[in-house]
Amino acid sequence: MQAARVPLCEPSLAGRERAYLLECIESGWISSVGPFVRRFEREVAAISGSAHAVATSSGTAALHLALRALGLGPGDGVFVSTLSFIAPANAVRYVGANPVFVDAEPRYWQLDAERLAAFLEGECEATEAGPVHRESGLHMRAIVAVHVLGHPVDIDAILDIARRHGLAVVEDAAEAIGARHRGRPVGSQAQLGCFSFNGNKTVTAGGGGALVTDDADLAKRAAHLATQAKCDDAIELIHDEVGFNYRLSNLHAAVGCAQLEQLDQLLLAKRRIADRYREDLDGLPGISWPGRAGWAQPSHWLSAVRIDPAGFGSDARDVLNGLREQGVDARPLWQPLHRSPAHRGSIALGGEVADRLYAEVVCLPSSAGLGAADIERVVSGIRSLALAPTRRLAAAQ
Ligand SMILES: *Cc1c(COP(=O)(O)O)cnc(C)c1O
Repeated sequence: MQAARVPLCEPSLAGRERAYLLECIESGWISSVGPFVRRFEREVAAISGSAHAVATSSGTAALHLALRALGLGPGDGVFVSTLSFIAPANAVRYVGANPVFVDAEPRYWQLDAERLAAFLEGECEATEAGPVHRESGLHMRAIVAVHVLGHPVDIDAILDIARRHGLAVVEDAAEAIGARHRGRPVGSQAQLGCFSFNGNKTVTAGGGGALVTDDADLAKRAAHLATQAKCDDAIELIHDEVGFNYRLSNLHAAVGCAQLEQLDQLLLAKRRIADRYREDLDGLPGISWPGRAGWAQPSHWLSAVRIDPAGFGSDARDVLNGLREQGVDARPLWQPLHRSPAHRGSIALGGEVADRLYAEVVCLPSSAGLGAADIERVVSGIRSLALAPTRRLAAAQ
């Protein structure tokens, strides 16, 4: 009998999800307003340490609203980590602006703030309207800083650069709910923060997102745009501009509320999985892990191991394929965005580090409900692929 597949990242629905969904059906509140939506917004605001939260239909929608609320548009340049899921770059394009991709630094795999600063200082002209890139004429207006894989980006360094050059900052904390930067929750340090509650994230609502901010005007503007820009009138349907249908349903919020009740357990489970992988694979040649900064409390959303083929004997793609053959749903990192056909022609600041990580990193199963036997399957799978026989032969010749 074939053992069940070990999935990459699936939701764990061990709490009151079912009870809250039934409450929605029994009360009739199943659509875009309702008590769970309000509760979800309150709780997401509290967890992120923000004054306001606006629940949205996805994390991508939250990013889109954030950039619209900041007034970004054509002719504007927005820095985005090149080592990221594609959503933040797409959101930049939705508003007609241009992503400028920034390489990762090799220690924590996060946006390289020094590279960004060097670009602003070396290749941009300081004008009254802010920095303008000499070669392209783009007005550099904002930074979308992704907390990649749940390890916080050094947001203090980014905010410092942003202040010096008059840029807005949006935190993409989709992978990092519950993570902390110098003791402070991610999502609340910049003007705006965005979360995702997609099925593969630490906390899921089945699908959904949220935008958080301390700025009441930005929150109001985002909520307005998310509701088809409908004017505040109990009876008349008047829309003062072209908005979006980006609200979260009460059904989704119900699942999200049940999940948030389990946030501490989910985070603990994720941390234990990450620690187990590190301990159980310790000492295997050619294996390394992203660093954990002393000031960081990561969310450990997805564990990812780096494989140096010279030490390990086979490369990351061999390991990935070998694990998949053994029924383990391992995956590569995202194709770096400066390589993405979707964003062809965009400016990139470096990209070599991201390219290298893309070639050498394998993402490992990290569902909160992952059992010890599953972890053991992943670990022994990786061990079995070290110095794979074909390579051993080649090395001996
Ligand atoms: C998942 C994710 C998003 C978007 O989330 P959706 O809810 O799927 O739209 C945005 N940014 C990052 C970094 C993500 O990982």
